Amino acid sequence: MGTVALSIDAELAWGYHDLASLPEKRIEKARPSWRKLVELLDEFEIPATWAVVGHLSLDHCDGNHEDHPNPKNWFRRDPGGDVKTNKDWFGPDLIELVQDAQVDHEIGSHTFSHVLCGAEDVTEEIVNAELKRSKDLAKEKGIELNSFVFPRGSVGHRRSLRLPRNRSRARPPRRRPLGDSGVSRPRLPQTRPSGPTRVLGLIAQRRTCLRPLEGHTRPGRYLRPSSPPSTARKYRPTETTGQSTPNRSSPSTIASPHWLM
Ligand SMILES: [Zn+2]
Repeated sequence: MGTVALSIDAELAWGYHDLASLPEKRIEKARPSWRKLVELLDEFEIPATWAVVGHLSLDHCDGNHEDHPNPKNWFRRDPGGDVKTNKDWFGPDLIELVQDAQVDHEIGSHTFSHVLCGAEDVTEEIVNAELKRSKDLAKEKGIELNSFVFPRGSVGHRRSLRLPRNRSRARPPRRRPLGDSGVSRPRLPQTRPSGPTRVLGLIAQRRTCLRPLEGHTRPGRYLRPSSPPSTARKYRPTETTGQSTPNRSSPSTIASPHWLM
């Protein structure tokens, strides 16, 4: 028995703003792809973790962010404005889509501005500021951030993700409880699909073999693996020192849960 952890980097143009040139066509597809994914995940009743770049939840900004400790030129491509004027840099509407989906998705953090936490010039102060902004913005929308995905898999400053003492990880269930068996029956497509639909169909089939993890009441999200998933290793601080215990041989891309601030 295995486990599938589905996490989606939700970033629009922020995923590329530090590159030499922006992949315009790819960015153009990001919004419709986001909407399509929400639809497909609803269709197959698959919850996912959406690792959202915090800036997307802003209703508007001036494009400067002068109070942010990032280097001055980090926001050089930020056009400012709002979702109507620059739809690839803002996404409060898309985040609401995830919140309002039929399945119970998790919204996690992908930093505020897609900083590469493991880069040499990214300090702990920058990472802390990115996390705090993301957390504050999420809170305004009634979202509690409990998972973090390192942009581009660049791991660094993991101590900034420490779990506060006495923090409960269990949260009450929300809508659409599953049947007595704890297993949802996916609606499989009638014809052999391809692309994302096929992948999600396979995940949905796999889900019928999995059970919710004991102590959690949200089947489909917390699943007991028979072996650790290769790309979703948990990060936990030690009990005594609060220091991180990184797995050097296999860098984490998802850290969950845990915020210092
Ligand atoms: Zn901005």
